[in-house]
Amino acid sequence: MAGRLLKGIPVSPGIAIGSLFPLDGGDSAGGPARVLASGEEEVEVARLRAAVELAEAELDRLRGALAARGADREGQIFRAQRAVLHDPSAREEIEREVRGRRLNAEAAIHAFLERYGRVLAEVSDPLSRERLADFRDPWLMVVAALRRGERERLLEGGDRVVLFAEDLTPSLAAFVEEGRALALVTARGGRFSHGAVLARSLGIPAVAGISDRRLRGGATVVVNGDEGSVLVEPSPEELAASERRRADRVALRERLRGLAREGGVTADGERVEIGANVEGLRDIEEFDRSTVDGVGLFRTEFVYMERREFPSEEEQFGIYRRALAAMEGKPIVFRTLDIGGDKPLPYFTTPAERNPVLGWRGLRISLQWRDLFLVQLRAILRASVHGPSRILLPMVTNLEEVRLARRLLAEVKGDLARRGVPFAPEVPLGVMVEVPATALALPHLVAEVDFVSLGTNDLVQYALAVDRDNAWVASLYEPFDPGVLALLDGAAKAALAAGRPISVCGEMAGDPVAVLPLLGMGIRSFSMSPVFVAEVKTVLRGVRSEEAERMRDEALRLPTAAEVRAFLVAKEREVWARETAPLRGAGRAGLDPEAAT
Ligand code: PEP
Ligand code: MG
Repeated sequence: MAGRLLKGIPVSPGIAIGSLFPLDGGDSAGGPARVLASGEEEVEVARLRAAVELAEAELDRLRGALAARGADREGQIFRAQRAVLHDPSAREEIEREVRGRRLNAEAAIHAFLERYGRVLAEVSDPLSRERLADFRDPWLMVVAALRRGERERLLEGGDRVVLFAEDLTPSLAAFVEEGRALALVTARGGRFSHGAVLARSLGIPAVAGISDRRLRGGATVVVNGDEGSVLVEPSPEELAASERRRADRVALRERLRGLAREGGVTADGERVEIGANVEGLRDIEEFDRSTVDGVGLFRTEFVYMERREFPSEEEQFGIYRRALAAMEGKPIVFRTLDIGGDKPLPYFTTPAERNPVLGWRGLRISLQWRDLFLVQLRAILRASVHGPSRILLPMVTNLEEVRLARRLLAEVKGDLARRGVPFAPEVPLGVMVEVPATALALPHLVAEVDFVSLGTNDLVQYALAVDRDNAWVASLYEPFDPGVLALLDGAAKAALAAGRPISVCGEMAGDPVAVLPLLGMGIRSFSMSPVFVAEVKTVLRGVRSEEAERMRDEALRLPTAAEVRAFLVAKEREVWARETAPLRGAGRAGLDPEAAT
């Protein structure tokens, strides 16, 4: 029987085949029920008992914490809940489910609670209903403890799995870093969410927008991050075909990887600067630095997000210095702290905002909380003697902000000079173009900045009024919208007319289809997640500058995003096929989307 093909949003490229592991604990993933293998029952009972012990310890801890605050009476609820877990008849009943029906512990608890709930539902007395909650909660804590144990086992175990979670959050991707995930499948989160950016930087396939409630833990799935699909329980033929595609893809990527070490250059010999987007020192130390000309975007907020308190000037200095040393003379663009929106700092309480993405974020916070900004500027400037450094301001809205930031930078330099602390005197200061008004006002701004970087992720979000993290409107998030292209083209013109370097550091820079018109707009610098470097360089090598200019002209003439996309995808396929033909030998395979089965 053929497998079920679920369509979602392609988030991170690649193909992975594996068994599905629901991370959120079950219900959202259709429940973690499974039938035990014969002989597995006693292991499962032991697992259940260990989880009960964990839950009991947690209840004792909660009661102790309340008692320490003088709330002994309130703490009694936890004593009562502990007694529920201690009740031998409930335990025996659940263990009977495990042994008799060969249910895993989570499913046995759910079956028991369901039965108990039905009995109490027949009793109309509200007190009994309340009792049900008191009865359920501690057992749900045991389920949580079981899942926690599973999570730990997953991290400790040798098997790599396809993780299924409700949302594509940065914390999920960070968890993936532990190395046990083959791929990510999530119900929510879009291609341009920060979780997606992280999945790409970790180089694992990811698909969002899959909310099929029938997805079961343990099911075999084929995750196709190029197309945004998940094939559930494939037939043996489908599995073999997917495995072939995966192997072809890996082989072609391997061949492309060798070429990635060559510089970025167009077919007519124009040099194109290729940078890496990184989230921290670990990223810099792990990727193949010989494939890029520098780091085009260091998202420094991740240095802050990974900690429990604000990193000190010394800590930041240490990290930036090591990053520059690792780059061995290649430049790093340090973007100053870009928190707010979907990147909160757990230890920094900001006021509740109705529209956080339109609120207190990025440079706005830095300019208001000056101490934060000054500490970071000092750390970057001090590090700048260890390698070429640039400072990039995020979420710039107007020229006054740039002037204020420049004045503060001058003050920090003056202070360092007075104290005899060394720093590179000419650290360029650039702006990110993420706000549409900034793109339109660039002719005014550009005279007062040293370089410009197009942050297309936020620019698209703000230009189209479409939340980049919201799967419900993901289909409206369209980088090829004619309005967006006009904004990008205008910004490129303004920077080039003023002779200022301009680059793209949003996700469009890593998409070969988008790189073609951007190249045609005159942009010669792209910074992307390192996983895209090989593909982008391949497409660049296959296209002449005047050909790209014609593609830009035609893209700007087309009236709808669908037409622009269809036109550019066709062009990119031509270039791709031309350039990779010698690498692929006979037949079309691997990265070619047309080879999809
Ligand atoms: C952008 O907005 O395009 C960008 C690169 O910044 P981030 O994705 O970190 O918001
Ligand atoms: Mg941004």
